[in-house]
Amino acid sequence: AAVAPRADVAGQTFVIATDTTFAPFEYREDGELTGIDMDLIRDIAAQQGFSVEIQSLGFDAALQALQSNQVDGVIAGMSITDERQAIFDFSDPYFDSGVQMAVAEGDTTITGYDDLRGETVVAKRGSEGETFANSIKDQYGFAVKALADSATMYDDVKAGNSVAVFDDYPVLAYGINQNNGLMSVTEKEQGSSYGFAVNKGQNAELLAAFNAGLAELKSTGDYQRILDTYLEQPA
Ligand code: GLN
Repeated sequence: AAVAPRADVAGQTFVIATDTTFAPFEYREDGELTGIDMDLIRDIAAQQGFSVEIQSLGFDAALQALQSNQVDGVIAGMSITDERQAIFDFSDPYFDSGVQMAVAEGDTTITGYDDLRGETVVAKRGSEGETFANSIKDQYGFAVKALADSATMYDDVKAGNSVAVFDDYPVLAYGINQNNGLMSVTEKEQGSSYGFAVNKGQNAELLAAFNAGLAELKSTGDYQRILDTYLEQPA
């Protein structure tokens, strides 16, 4: 069924910031930005009659760009946390996530947090993974190094500069499934769901359009189709 575009956003262009490499949510394929987040925001925009200009800034940079009003919104596998809700307004949740630890494939020395004593782990600056790692680092006696993007973090672990990475488990699982040289050794931690964010009290019409569009994509089955496109395991 056709949806009547929301009059208050129709014809407008919104600048949306995202992470650089966070497959399967945002990543480049043949130079083009693709992934679950990209399909969602583009489909919702088309359905609700607005345009988007996507800026692939990196996660922490995207949040800072939003806070300083350089962009209208962020979609970046961004977890809906209490701290962030103090400064951002979030859409309805669209994906359940959480943090997990991974190590270099074949590394038999790190099988749990207890093995991290005296070691350095890596996490993304400004992410839930960094917050989680920092929350247990004193208990387990390790140091946390912050880097800007997932690809660099994974390289750091594979190069042996850090013994482990803390990142979102759907992203780790996707990479590991593609033989990215990592493996997970611990259970996933409880985490928050992803939401689309705007600045608190601003762009309320954009947020409403996102929520209306997401609900429509769920009811038509397109939301599930998008997830299946990126998450289905090869046979
Ligand atoms: N979901 C995590 C967070 O919001 C990480 C997001 C990301 O790395 N793009 O902190």
